[in-house]
Amino acid sequence: MKKTIRDIQDWRGKRALVRVDFNVPLDGEGRITDDTRIREALPTLQTLCEKGARIILMSHLGRPKGAPEDAFRLTPVAARLQELMPQTRITLARDVVSPDVQKQAEALAPGEILLLENVRFEPGETKNDPALAQALASMGDIFVNDAFGAAHRAHASTEGVGRLLSMRVAGLLMEKEINALSSVVQNPARPYAAIIGGSKVSSKITVLKNLMNVVDHLVVGGAMMFTFLKAQGLSVGSSLVEDEYLDTARELAAYAQEKGVQLVLPRQVVIADAFAENAQTQVVSVDAIPDGWMGLDIGPDAIVEIANVVKTAKTVLWNGPLGVFEMAPFAAGTRAIAEAVAQATAQNGCRSVLGGGDTVAAIEQFGMDPHRFTHVSTGGGASLEFLEGQLLPGIAVLDDVGAPAPASV
Ligand code: ADP
Ligand code: MG
Repeated sequence: MKKTIRDIQDWRGKRALVRVDFNVPLDGEGRITDDTRIREALPTLQTLCEKGARIILMSHLGRPKGAPEDAFRLTPVAARLQELMPQTRITLARDVVSPDVQKQAEALAPGEILLLENVRFEPGETKNDPALAQALASMGDIFVNDAFGAAHRAHASTEGVGRLLSMRVAGLLMEKEINALSSVVQNPARPYAAIIGGSKVSSKITVLKNLMNVVDHLVVGGAMMFTFLKAQGLSVGSSLVEDEYLDTARELAAYAQEKGVQLVLPRQVVIADAFAENAQTQVVSVDAIPDGWMGLDIGPDAIVEIANVVKTAKTVLWNGPLGVFEMAPFAAGTRAIAEAVAQATAQNGCRSVLGGGDTVAAIEQFGMDPHRFTHVSTGGGASLEFLEGQLLPGIAVLDDVGAPAPASV
C-alpha cells in the first residue's frame, strides 16, 4: 500500500510538487474536446488547496519533441483549470524550469497554484535526466503523483523527481486507480469475467496470460479473436490476423484449459467486403467466412452469449472494443456489451472495471454515463501494464505505508 496525500497531516506552507495528467485531447484550433483528465485531478488539487499547500503542477501534453512548440503550450489547460477552480489563484509558468520559474514557485502563497509549462518541452523529461529531475525537485518539498495515465513511464516528472525528494505520496486519483485495478487482480468476487478485445493479440498477450490466473471466464473479441479462430484451423477471410502469433494463440488457449478458465470466442460475426462504413455486410457463423470478407464486429448471437456470461458475473474487467466501433455498422457489439456490463453493475452488484483508451472512447461515443460502471480508468497503457502485473515506475517510487517518515521536510 502506498502513502497518499491523506497520510500527511500538515500541508500548510509546504511546497507540493504534483504530477498530474493533463494530456487532454485538443481540436484543430487548440480547444479542449474532453476535460475529463483535468476534472479527475480536482479532488487532489482541492484538498491540497484547502490544506494550505503551495502547489506546483507538472504535466505533459501531446508529443512535442523536447523543445517548446506553441501548439502544445498548456495555455488552454490553465484556462480550463481556472474555470473549474474559480476561487484559486492559478498561474501558468513560461517554462518548465528556469530561474524565473524558480522565483514564481518561491513566491507562491498557501493555496495558490503554479502550473509549469509542458514538461515534454524539456529534452530531459522522457530520458529521465537527473539534472532535470533535480531542477524540478528543487521547487518542491513533497512529491505527489496523481498522473496514473503516465505512471508506466519512468520520466523525470513521473519518477526521477520522486527519488530526489524525501516524501512522495499518491494523489487521490492515483489511489482510486490503484484500488480499482488491484481489486480485479487480487481477490475478485466470483464469477469473474474478463472481456478483452481490440486490435492486436501481440499487444495483449501478457495481460491475457496474467488474467487466466485469476478469471473464471475470458472472452476474446475484437480483431484479436480472428488470430485465435485461425489458430483453431478456421478460415477467417481477410479479417485482421497476426500470423506470427498463431502459436501464441494456441498456447494461450491451452493455458486457459490448464487453468480451468472458460475461453469464450464469439461464434458469430458481422463481416464486410471492405474496411469501410458503406461496405456490404452479412452476419455469418465464424466457420462460414468467405474469402475476401473480413470480420468487423461480433454478431447478435455472440452478443447474447457474452451478455449471458456478464449477467451472472460479480466482477467484470473489460479492455478493448469488440468491433470497429468507430464505424456505425460495426459498433453494435461493443455498444451491447457496454450496456450489458452497465446493467450487471446496477442490478447484480457486479464490480465493473474498464480500461483502454479506445474502450473509454467507445463509451463516450455512445454517450454512456461512465458512472454506470464501477471504475473507468483514465490510463490506457498504464492500466494495461498494471493488469499485466507490472510494477509501474511512477507508483514504485512512492512511499509505502509504514515506511518511516523523514525527520523533517
Ligand atoms: P484499447 O485502446 O481499448 O486497449 P485497442 O487499442 O487494443 O483497444 O484496440 C482498439 C481498436 O481495435 C479500435 O480502433 C477498433 O476499431 C479495433 N478493432 C476492434 N475490432 C476489430 C476488428 N474486428 N477488425 C479490425 N479492427 C478492430
Ligand atoms: Mg488503443
